[in-house]
Amino acid sequence: MRIGVLALQGAFIEHEKMLSKLGADSFEIRQLRDFDQPMDGLIIPGGESTVQGKLLRELGLMEPVRRRIAEGLPVFGTCAGLILLAKEIDGGEAPHIAAMDIVAKRNAYGRQLGSFAAGAEFKGLGEIPMTFIRAPYISRSTGAEILAEVDGKAVAARQDNILVTAFHPELTEDLSVHRYFLDMAAQAGKKIAV
Ligand code: GLN
Repeated sequence: MRIGVLALQGAFIEHEKMLSKLGADSFEIRQLRDFDQPMDGLIIPGGESTVQGKLLRELGLMEPVRRRIAEGLPVFGTCAGLILLAKEIDGGEAPHIAAMDIVAKRNAYGRQLGSFAAGAEFKGLGEIPMTFIRAPYISRSTGAEILAEVDGKAVAARQDNILVTAFHPELTEDLSVHRYFLDMAAQAGKKIAV
């Protein structure tokens, strides 16, 4: 299993560590030619969605990333990654990769903008720890299945080959969301092999 980790900005190293704990290989995508290699899945990390969106465009990565996801490449976006993948951003900001039928609300927790930890049920995984840092939530979904909620707000969702979390599983000790994503990637690989 080999996962590409978008490494333009933000918390990408932490994802690489989680993957390595689970026995998966990873490599960093810093420019267009890094993306031009076989991979079983792609991780888009937390950070600043506006910065990552700008860099994706400037580096000519936006279209190829969008195309590969549309073709079925399994992708996991955390926090800013969720915002980048949403087809709509609450408040009218222009969307970025725009692959998933959700509306993302940025910096959505009012006075709790800093960071906070919670524990909540994640569908199929039981209760898991969740770390939020200036996090978004999913204010509406028109096509994705909601997998977790905190305080009545949707914080994780899946639509076919796309998984997103508003929180940062890579900043906890809990490997279950990354394992869930690697299972998604393994299933997609089987489909392609048949
Ligand atoms: N607030 C950031 C944004 O809007 C996301 C924060 C994060 O990724 N930890 O892009």
